[in-house]
Amino acid sequence: MNSMNDALPSYVVTPPAVTSLPVRGTKARFPIRRVYCVGRNYAAHAIEMGRDPNKEPPFFFQKNPDNVILAGGETFPYPPLTNDLHFEIELIVAIGKGGSNITTAKALEHVYGYAVGLDMTRRDLQTQAKDLQRPWEVGKAFEKSAPIGEIVRASEIGHPDQGAIWLDVDGKRRQTGDLNQLIWKVPEVIQHLSALFELAPGDIIMSGTPAGVGAVKKGEVMHGHVDGVGDIKVPVG
Ligand code: MN
Repeated sequence: MNSMNDALPSYVVTPPAVTSLPVRGTKARFPIRRVYCVGRNYAAHAIEMGRDPNKEPPFFFQKNPDNVILAGGETFPYPPLTNDLHFEIELIVAIGKGGSNITTAKALEHVYGYAVGLDMTRRDLQTQAKDLQRPWEVGKAFEKSAPIGEIVRASEIGHPDQGAIWLDVDGKRRQTGDLNQLIWKVPEVIQHLSALFELAPGDIIMSGTPAGVGAVKKGEVMHGHVDGVGDIKVPVG
C-alpha cells in the first residue's frame, strides 16, 4: 500500500546509470536521453552509398543512449561479428529545450550545444540488413558505437553552419567536407525530427557524415575535427 511515507522506489534489478558527456567550461554534465541519427545528409556521401542525393527527404535512425562513450576517454573496442567497421565523422547537436513540430525559425533556440562525434558502423551487417529489408540496429546501435567529444555550448560558439569537417586515420586524411554541404541543415533536421518525435532535453542528433567513409582496424587512431567545435582522438582497440 502506498502512503506519503513511502521511501524512494526500490527496483528488482539495479537501475541503469545515466550516460552523460562533459560540457566544456562547466563541471556539470550533459545527460543523454535519446540518440537520433540522420542518414545520408551530405550529397557526396549519398552518392558514394549509391543514392540520389536530391530526391530523398531526410530519414532517421537511432542508437541507444548507453552506446555513447566519451571520445578519447577510453579506447573504442573493435566490435564483434564484423569485418568491415566503418568510421563516420559527424557534427553532433545537443538539444537543451524540448518540443514537437518545431519550426526552422525557432529550431536553434532548442540547441544547447554541439560536439564532434563518430557514428561507428558495422557496414557489413548494415548492408545485409538493407538487403533483407530489416532494421539497422545490428549495424548501428552496438556497444560503444557512438564516441562523442565534450559538448561545447552554443552560448560560447554560436551555431556553426559552415567550416571544415574531417577525419584522419593514423595521420592520413580519409573524410573531408564542409558543414555548408549538409543537405538538411540543423534547423531543418530539427523541424523534421520534431514532427516525428517529441524532442526533450538530453536528446542528441548525429547530423550525418561527409564523403570518404571507410574501414578502420584495430590499433589505428581516428582523429576527427569540426571547425569551431573541436577535435576528438579515438584509438581502436
Ligand atoms: Mn551516420
